[in-house]
Amino acid sequence: MKRYAFVTGADRGLGFALVKGLLSRDYHVIAGRYMEDNRELADLAEEWQDRLFLVELDVSSDQSVAHAAAQLTRITDTLELVINNAGILGDIQATILDPLPFAEMQHVYNVNTLGPLRVTNALAPLVLRGQSKLFVQISSEAGSIADCKRTSWFGYCMSKTAVNMQAALIHNEVKKFGGQVLLLHPGWVQSYMSGTLNTEATLTADESAAHIMDRIQELENAAPGEKPLYRDYSGNELPW
Ligand code: NDP
Repeated sequence: MKRYAFVTGADRGLGFALVKGLLSRDYHVIAGRYMEDNRELADLAEEWQDRLFLVELDVSSDQSVAHAAAQLTRITDTLELVINNAGILGDIQATILDPLPFAEMQHVYNVNTLGPLRVTNALAPLVLRGQSKLFVQISSEAGSIADCKRTSWFGYCMSKTAVNMQAALIHNEVKKFGGQVLLLHPGWVQSYMSGTLNTEATLTADESAAHIMDRIQELENAAPGEKPLYRDYSGNELPW
């Protein structure tokens, strides 16, 4: 039986690595493509013609998500899992003593928080039709209130905390049908969040994705718990 997974923000960074990880574990993958001029994902789709499908997706746009969902339902009416991965960083310098970039923060919230909610809202019925019924949200340790040490990163941290609350709300509903939400901190990953590839980070995107695939595999046949899981890439629980 074909098992379909959907990944957002799949052009590069962790999303691209997750697409490769899913393909290596026999999933059929539908990947949300955001960038127009990135060949890597297009080349991968050519290589995996029968198993990788690309849909245009800007998670910050209602219309784009609706259009992508319509395209997806022409490919499959059942998803094993959705990975909400797309995200942006925004300003990480300004503290409460600086002028804060409110317009940019609204954009960060629209992408990082409302983006996954739009996608999950459009695709939840398809996921609940699958065996795994798994909603994976790439969150961050930066969303933890209990462990907050930063004095800046307002837009990003608040957007991820809101994603954690979103996960709790979604989990409360989908667990009635055997579904569950997994909130994951992927580690400090070499990616393009700050514009160029961050080679200082401790994990390559492929390494992080391999860990995440293990976390997903652990839950493929697991019953949902009372609350969503908030874990790092190694499976350690994170404080909310
Ligand atoms: P990248 O910037 O490398 O990848 C994010 C991808 O999402 C890019 O392809 C990006 O495109 C795309 N994207 C941006 N805006 C949108 C949009 N509106 N709609 C759809 N796609 C969009 O970063 P990462 O791979 O690091 O980020 C993946 C996830 O991991 C994010 O949710 C991030 O918050 C999370 N994370 C990352 C950590 C790290 O250390 N890297 C640590 C903790 C969490 P473009 O490049 O054109 O903007």
